[in-house]
Amino acid sequence: MSQGVSEGMSQSLSALQSGGASPLADASAPAFGVYLHWPFCASKCPYCDFNSHVRDAVDTAAWQEALCAELEDAAAHLWANPPDAPRQVASVFFGGGTPSLMPPECVAAILEKVQALWQSLDAIEITLECNPSDLDEARCRGLRDAGVNRLSIGVQSFDDAVLSFLGRRHDGAQARAALTAACKTFPRVSLDMIYAHPEQSVRAWREDLHQGLAFATEHVSAYQLTLEPNTPFYAQARRGVFSVPGEDAALALWNETQEATVRAGLVRYETSNHARGGVAGASRHNLEIWRGGDYAAIGPGAHGRTTIETSAHGRTTIETSAHGRTTIETSAHGRTTIETSAHGRTTIETSAHGRTTMETSAHGRTTMESRRQNEVQDKKRIAVSRIASPERWLALRSTGKDTLSEEQLLSADEIRDEIFLNGLRLSTGVSRARLTRETGYQDFQQALPADRLTSLVESGLLVLDETGLRTTEAGAVRLNAILGYLLALPAGDKKRAQEEQAQEVQGV
Ligand code: SF4
Repeated sequence: MSQGVSEGMSQSLSALQSGGASPLADASAPAFGVYLHWPFCASKCPYCDFNSHVRDAVDTAAWQEALCAELEDAAAHLWANPPDAPRQVASVFFGGGTPSLMPPECVAAILEKVQALWQSLDAIEITLECNPSDLDEARCRGLRDAGVNRLSIGVQSFDDAVLSFLGRRHDGAQARAALTAACKTFPRVSLDMIYAHPEQSVRAWREDLHQGLAFATEHVSAYQLTLEPNTPFYAQARRGVFSVPGEDAALALWNETQEATVRAGLVRYETSNHARGGVAGASRHNLEIWRGGDYAAIGPGAHGRTTIETSAHGRTTIETSAHGRTTIETSAHGRTTIETSAHGRTTIETSAHGRTTMETSAHGRTTMESRRQNEVQDKKRIAVSRIASPERWLALRSTGKDTLSEEQLLSADEIRDEIFLNGLRLSTGVSRARLTRETGYQDFQQALPADRLTSLVESGLLVLDETGLRTTEAGAVRLNAILGYLLALPAGDKKRAQEEQAQEVQGV
């Protein structure tokens, strides 16, 4: 596999990295991220429930063409550039799957397409997730020349026995070699590690984590091993083949993670993420997602969010190549009409008492009721997700067809839930300003069940003060239980939220 790129390509991508290709760039223009999913892996790890697949051969030319076509479709659709408020790309994140299996020429072509379609911020962050098995100095140089400026490496452990248990293709020596090559080539390198596997002692985890921290990377993600349904590990654990540490043992391992990372000069800014300087060294792409930013979904199984703000006269028009013409109009009395030529007519009407009725001629009738009284009229948040099957996605995209599996206007309650699901992951939590700006609620007692909120604060798991709502150290380790209790989410919603969060944190 050739890993070089042409001189011209390299120059134009340097311009993208430096922002030189964006002469009109305006720091006040709305920015968004691009998440791009490469769904293939060389082998399937037994704990993994991500949208990742092992195939004998992948037609990378066809995939490159299809991914570029999807970028064009996104640019013409929800992430269009209205002339009065052009959107800028703040980050590109290649996730997977194993995107380090992509030829660097393919990565370069995709980044050139991003550059051609949108302006980019000067400090654009371009991250690619890597498997240590695929990463040597030549591959690092190829990815750097393609335009990538940050690597996220799925090391998971340096212990050969642990790596073998986790079903990884690399050993400790390969992990160290990959990190050495990455740190030589890239100014920003992150590594992922997994702890709380069977019988792991605090001492063993301390020694393993110490090896990762010794590379003096600026960013470490430490994830607790979880047993996801429909994985071989889940089935084995149910059969009693092994068991993961109980609550006390897991807590001891969490505490060791916090102490070791602090000793190494890293600050926990998110449940599982630690960076030099805290937020200053964070993954900017993921940070913006946790903060409620917009991101485009490209590739099979990718999820995205976009916020549409109506103009002063209340009318926004978006044209899409795949769907024909879509018009979103919001009048002063709160009526929104969305008309999509290919899908028939969808009417969404929001009355003053907070009831929303959705009627779709092609799909029957759906009625949703919002508990919220003070509807924010000028912002619409749309969730999209793509078809997960790689073969089906490629067949549709290659023939110019739509690959969306869902395109949904989020209800007020769904927006509220996402703010807390994402925002409470951050050590800074959810600010009062964000709560009011994005939901219309003036205080947290209105937005959440007041009795549950009070009991979590009195239990020392949450802090509520003049700046906002956030977890304590004791609350951060119990975040999933806190969110389930606070938001009283139905099981399906919890699963969806976890899947979408997984898109942002999965390691390769
Ligand atoms: S954990 Fe990473 S490398 Fe392993 S199967 Fe999942 S996506 Fe692929």
